[in-house]
Amino acid sequence: MRGARFLFGLIACLGASGFLAGGCGGDEPTNDGGAGGDGGSSSSSSGGEDGGPIPGSDGGDGAADAKPDANYPPPSITPGAKDRIMLVGTILTPGAVIPDGQVLIEGSQITCVEPGTGCNAKPGAVGATVIQTNGIVAPGMIDVHNHILFDIFDDDDWGPAKVYKNHDEWPNEPKYQAMLDVKQCLSNDSQGKPAWCASTPYGTAAGSLRCEMDKWGELKGLIAGTTSIVGLPGTSSACFGSITRSIDVSQNGLGTDKVQTSAIFPPSNPNGVCTNFGAGTTDAFIPHIGEGVDAKALAEFTSLGTMTTPAECLYAPQTAITHGVAFGPTEFATMAAKGMKLVWSPRSNFTLYHATANIPQARSAGVTIALGPDWSMGGSQNLLDELRFADEYDDKNWGNVLTPKELVTMATENGAKAVGLADRLGKIEVGAVADVAVYGGDRGKPYDAILAATPREVRLVVIGGVPLYGESVLEPAAPAPPGCEKLDVCGASKFLCVATASSASKLNQTHAEIKAALEQALKDADALTTADGWNFAPLAPLVHCK
Ligand SMILES: [Zn+2]
Repeated sequence: MRGARFLFGLIACLGASGFLAGGCGGDEPTNDGGAGGDGGSSSSSSGGEDGGPIPGSDGGDGAADAKPDANYPPPSITPGAKDRIMLVGTILTPGAVIPDGQVLIEGSQITCVEPGTGCNAKPGAVGATVIQTNGIVAPGMIDVHNHILFDIFDDDDWGPAKVYKNHDEWPNEPKYQAMLDVKQCLSNDSQGKPAWCASTPYGTAAGSLRCEMDKWGELKGLIAGTTSIVGLPGTSSACFGSITRSIDVSQNGLGTDKVQTSAIFPPSNPNGVCTNFGAGTTDAFIPHIGEGVDAKALAEFTSLGTMTTPAECLYAPQTAITHGVAFGPTEFATMAAKGMKLVWSPRSNFTLYHATANIPQARSAGVTIALGPDWSMGGSQNLLDELRFADEYDDKNWGNVLTPKELVTMATENGAKAVGLADRLGKIEVGAVADVAVYGGDRGKPYDAILAATPREVRLVVIGGVPLYGESVLEPAAPAPPGCEKLDVCGASKFLCVATASSASKLNQTHAEIKAALEQALKDADALTTADGWNFAPLAPLVHCK
């Protein structure tokens, strides 16, 4: 999606995002062309279906396909050093599945990946915390398309009134605008705050809940095995960055931010992006392009090529196009030839347009495909749900061309390629950053097990070598004081580590405090906007269970 309502020039979500202090996300200023698009009813090369069957009733939304993790042997732990962790289980490496193996994490890095007990010989293994996962040790997932400040909302708050042709047709709907008002107030956006916001504490720098909103989105990802999110949070504040990596900001924990995003079209300074490509300061440019099924959406691809000097400098390996719903073989052939990536968001696309990017065409052309849920209002609540939706959509519309391994690869290795960090992220490999997710399930079919998993089946999530979420029994591996919180996730007892010891910049907030602040703010907003008849409380939960 690209939410938008206000046209304040083309102040885009551009620029090495960490340098932008102001709000910059999908909700921010855009070229809101109003309803109707260009009147084109369809495109001959439009991807997706003509209202093809939506995946099953559980599609992308719950645990119906997942066996409770209690059906499988539980994990266990032998506590040791906090900064050295040995994970034992079925290991998913880039080249092969290791049915029984070890992964040694030292500090923030993976230092050993071996079958059997091969990592025991490493000096760092001596005295390490050892976790028998009895599960599947996989790379943490990378969400390449989210609008993280909207993650306080979900399907209960807004849904499409009809099927649309392109991205300009729905942002003017009154209920969407009312929801956007709430978002822009609570996050103290630089533009678009409603008048009623002045009666709240939120529309000020001191009262802004932007930190809490971002953390809520990071938490929704974390509990679903997501370790990095392109969330367009639009701030360089240190108040978050302590949970899942909001990767398109300077506080992503990687020491560098070379990701640029643009949720509007056209992007504001395309020549600047090309300059940054040349200077090596931008490794990933992730624009929304081709969101819709009509000629207007399709024409954005050509415009991307002609808007720069020299022409087509954005047709480059650093460019990862979000959406591409309107694209056909011509566009995908160009993308493949230029090494461009595609970021696929099937559930959101289907909800809004009854179509999605033609993945079989993109795949045949050789385009690298990553994945992201977009947001929770018609998109998936997390990447595990999005994977499940993608799998079911493929089964029902394309004849099951995508294998479970291919789908999981979209959410891991391909995501790392899309954000320009394939050298460090998205893989269980010596030298990679220790961003790891462990799933319960059938170890004999590990990729199927991930497709079946929900946050309940996520046994452990490690980010930068630090376990932040997992089975309660594994909490001894979690960070030292202030420690972690207990969390019931669809009947499973988990630990969740949010607060850090630092009192600076809200870093010491607990999950409970973040949740309470957001719940209260939504109630406050509703109380000030009773005339419209819509309520945006309660807060969207971290996970909907079924
Ligand atoms: Zn979007």
